[in-house]
Amino acid sequence: MNKNQLAAALLLGAAVAGGACLHVYAGNATQRKVGYQDTPMLPGGKWRVHDGQRPQPAIITPAVPSTQGAVGKAPSDAVVLFDGKDTARWRTGDGKASTWKVQDGAMVAGGGDTWTRDEFGDCQIHIEWAAPNPPRGRDQGRGNSGVFLFGRYEIQVLDSYNNITYPDGQAGSMYGQYPPLVNASLKPGEWQTYDIFFTAPRFKDGKVETPAYLTLMHNGVLVHNHTPYLGPSGHRSLPEYRPHAAKGPIKLQDHGNPTRFRNIWVRPLKSYDEP
Ligand code: MG
Repeated sequence: MNKNQLAAALLLGAAVAGGACLHVYAGNATQRKVGYQDTPMLPGGKWRVHDGQRPQPAIITPAVPSTQGAVGKAPSDAVVLFDGKDTARWRTGDGKASTWKVQDGAMVAGGGDTWTRDEFGDCQIHIEWAAPNPPRGRDQGRGNSGVFLFGRYEIQVLDSYNNITYPDGQAGSMYGQYPPLVNASLKPGEWQTYDIFFTAPRFKDGKVETPAYLTLMHNGVLVHNHTPYLGPSGHRSLPEYRPHAAKGPIKLQDHGNPTRFRNIWVRPLKSYDEP
C-alpha cells in the first residue's frame, strides 16, 4: 500500500466509523448512497421514484459527429430559439425579459427559469448544453438544469460524468420516471447535444387519451425510444396528467448551477395528412 492508498483507506475507515452515507453495491464498487427508499412505487412494482438501487445505466463513449468543435446550424424550416446572439425569444415565468445572460455565444442559467415566448405541440428540438467546468457539487447539485416540454415534462440536464445520482435523475433521464438507456455523458465544459422528438399528450373529456411520448438522442446516441411519460415530472412524487392546451412553452431550468446552452432550434411537427 503506498502513501495515497493508505490515506484513502484511512479516509474511508473514518467515514464509515462516522456513519457517513456509504453503500456497497454489486461489483465491489463503494459508492455514496443516493436517492430515496420512501417514495411511491413506479408502475411495474420494481423501483421507487428516484430509487438509488435501480441499476446505473452503462457508461459509454458517444460517437463523435464530424462537426464536433464547430457550432452547428439549424435546418431551414426550424424556429431558431437561440443562435448565440440574444435571448429575445425567451422570457421569465411572468413574461418579463429573460434573466439569462449571453456569454461567448451561450445562454447561461441564472436568475430563475427561462421560458420560450413561442408555444409548441409535437416537435423536434435540438439543444446543446455544457455543464460548468470545473465541476462543483455532487449528485443532483452538479450542473443541474432541465428541458421542460410544456413547462411540465422534464428531460434532465445534469453533469453525469463521474457523478453518481439516482438513475431516474441523471442526464438524459425522464426525471423521476425513466433513466436513459445508457449514460452518454461528456465531460463538464464540453458541449453535449440533445435531439428531442416529442409527441404531446392528447386529452379527451378531461382525461388523458394518449400520453406524451419522448424519443431522445444524447450526443447522437438513442437513450429513449418512444417512451411514454407517466405524467408531468415531479420530485419524490408521481404527478398525474391534468388536461392542458395542445401547445405550450419550453422551459429551461435554473437549478442554481451556471449551465450553458447554445444552438437551440425547434421544428414543429405536423401529422402526415395536415397541410
Ligand atoms: Mg433538473
